[in-house]
Amino acid sequence: MKLWVNGGLHDEKAARVSVLDHGLTVGDGIFETVRAERGETFALTLHLERLTRSARGLGLPDPDLDEVRRACAAVLEANPVELGRLRITYTGGLSPLGSERGDTGTSLVVAVGPTARRPDTTKAITVPWTRNERGALTGLKTTSYAENVVALARAKEAGASEALFGNTVGRLCEGTGSNVFVVLDGRLHTPPVSSGCLAGITRALAVEWTGAEETDLPLDVLETAEEIFLTSTLRDVQAVHTVDGRALSAEPGPVTVKAMRVFEERAAADRDPKLG
Ligand code: PLP
Repeated sequence: MKLWVNGGLHDEKAARVSVLDHGLTVGDGIFETVRAERGETFALTLHLERLTRSARGLGLPDPDLDEVRRACAAVLEANPVELGRLRITYTGGLSPLGSERGDTGTSLVVAVGPTARRPDTTKAITVPWTRNERGALTGLKTTSYAENVVALARAKEAGASEALFGNTVGRLCEGTGSNVFVVLDGRLHTPPVSSGCLAGITRALAVEWTGAEETDLPLDVLETAEEIFLTSTLRDVQAVHTVDGRALSAEPGPVTVKAMRVFEERAAADRDPKLG
């Protein structure tokens, strides 16, 4: 595989960033995962806008979006994949030990790997840990993902593919790598960004296209919701058939099916330039 590292393509084995890169030593970095199908990215503009927002939130210089676009195109051309995930990583760069960030610029790495289509339904669990809705990093897509790694491992142990968090005041928040939607009395709701969740690209499109309401909900709404689904770049809209051992319908429910359809149709229509 060929990767883009700081200005050019390199063979995977030869690609290097410093072992003192701030992204590695203190997790001072941000990232985006972008879906690519047969060389075409999906919603790249929205991902790049979020990359810039995350950089500003972390106090990193704005990424050079022309370079990021060139890097994505070059990596996709060099590594043809039917369905792939582009990973854009941007970090605080190399800093000699004991000094502050920024001495020698930033690092940009873009890679692509194949990915499988996700099944229509999945199992989720909740975890006892909380998302901090008022933290310095809240809403930023930083590389500080270790808590998600631990929660996802807990989910995998339970035979689930996602772990859902509440926030510090017991409200429903999000998954380790997805946003969550619930159906109550036939109406679709998703937690607001003020719950501490990431402003997911798929979430925003699903809200726009389905008319879902952004509603502050207690975590235990998962015990009574008629339907539950997850959204993310790699899941699109994915129904939850079981949460914490509570079985919902084995097949996606009617509101979820509608959301799946509308998402598929609108995404394929691709009329909106922001989806390019
Ligand atoms: N929440 C978290 C913590 C995530 O990491 C992600 C994606 O990786 C999402 C939500 C879903 O966001 P998107 O739809 O932009 O993939």
